[in-house]
Amino acid sequence: MKLSSYEDLRSRLLSRSISCEEVVRLYLDRIDHHQSDNIYISVFHEQAVERAKALDRKLMEGGKPGKLFGMPMAIKDNIAIKGAGLTCASKILENYESVYDATAVLRLEAEDAVFLGKTNMDEFAMGSSNENSAFGNVPNPYDKTRVPGGSSGGSAAAVANGLAMVALGSDTGGSVRQPAGFCNIVGLKPTYGRISRYGLVAFASSFDQIGVLALNCDDAALVLEVMAGKDEHDATSSLHAVPSYSSDMAAVSVEGLRIGVPSEFFHESLNPDVARLVKGKLHELRDKGAELVDITLPESDYAIAAYYILVTAEASSNLARFDGARYGYRTDAAEDLAAMYVNSRTEGFGREVKRRIMLGTYVLSAGYYDTYYKKAQQVRRVFQDRYREALQKVDVIAGPTSPFPPFGIGDKTGDPLEMYLADVFTVPASIVGMPAVSVPVGFDSLNLPVGMHLICNFFEEGKLLGIARHMQAS
Ligand code: GLN
Repeated sequence: MKLSSYEDLRSRLLSRSISCEEVVRLYLDRIDHHQSDNIYISVFHEQAVERAKALDRKLMEGGKPGKLFGMPMAIKDNIAIKGAGLTCASKILENYESVYDATAVLRLEAEDAVFLGKTNMDEFAMGSSNENSAFGNVPNPYDKTRVPGGSSGGSAAAVANGLAMVALGSDTGGSVRQPAGFCNIVGLKPTYGRISRYGLVAFASSFDQIGVLALNCDDAALVLEVMAGKDEHDATSSLHAVPSYSSDMAAVSVEGLRIGVPSEFFHESLNPDVARLVKGKLHELRDKGAELVDITLPESDYAIAAYYILVTAEASSNLARFDGARYGYRTDAAEDLAAMYVNSRTEGFGREVKRRIMLGTYVLSAGYYDTYYKKAQQVRRVFQDRYREALQKVDVIAGPTSPFPPFGIGDKTGDPLEMYLADVFTVPASIVGMPAVSVPVGFDSLNLPVGMHLICNFFEEGKLLGIARHMQAS
């Protein structure tokens, strides 16, 4: 059975032409079939079926179906579900079970979603290829020798392979959008503060947002609407009212739409296929009445440097809590307390996580704080000013999601700086905190997917998804 939208599934469920249990069993079978791909770290075989049966009963007894009734979902393994594993794809949390639910998870559950399991990722969401996982690589759904992107690689591969209808990811610098681009699906990072971070394991708290990976913009909007809104457990969650995203989307028309195209995003080093597909799509929209406006974002070259200073600084502080004393893995080899801390962290964390803790500790140290951390904060402010200015002139800023199509497994693991460049186009929206989405725009000469990246002003998720929907459909 091919289910390409929740609307389709919902009408079949509500007319009872299929039951929740049948749907969930179908997805679980597919998951089992793909087991060797490492897409899921844990699968809720029994719980998901029990939950589906309960939803079937509810419908039979005349209960009101929630907004996400029977939606089969996957959750990235850095988002807490009470009683389930919460590994963050790290050995240090290998056997840890969450003692509480993330707010986003509770809100999905309250609208009758069904969770199928927890998905693979780069360790603590640090990476762009899913290769930094203690639970193995995930192959790209379009070419098994290539990466699915990261860090939400498992969530993207789950949706693209039909192993979940929608998946949650987390996005600190592109981890929802970049894998969505690599797997030919929609990936949305909302405005910073739109969705509560309570229950999302922190990487860089001033950047982290829960995001949605889906087959289409309508599904992403619906799931966003359910999760968005103030939460007393997260002081950075916004009071901004949650609109009806579907009506905001419907209000967007291509006619007269002003699309800002920064020259810096189409540098000559951009992969030619990516450039051709993204420009081709922009020209299609122009032919339908949109206006393409040349803009310039001159500081773009500093995005990666500023990002990696700021997020490593925050990560070095956030990850101090994993010390072997309170959570997860503890070493066997320790004569005293100091050795217990050191050895637990040395054995429990992977290479990339250690690299970032060291880098972050360095940029925050007394002699370097002003040179690196403070400077990067100033750059962050410049980016915010520039993007605000740009979005006064245009409705949306458009460019490629990634400078190249999905790359081969192992191709970039030897050179972290090469890997960091995979996020060059997604990082700016995270630096400024604006909402951004990746939407599929076609396939390159090797039949690999390419994504378009769109950024709108703060809290304009409805408009953003409305524009993205025009791109996906046309
Ligand atoms: N790839 C980027 C990084 O490694 C982004 C990660 C993310 O968004 N979680 O930091």
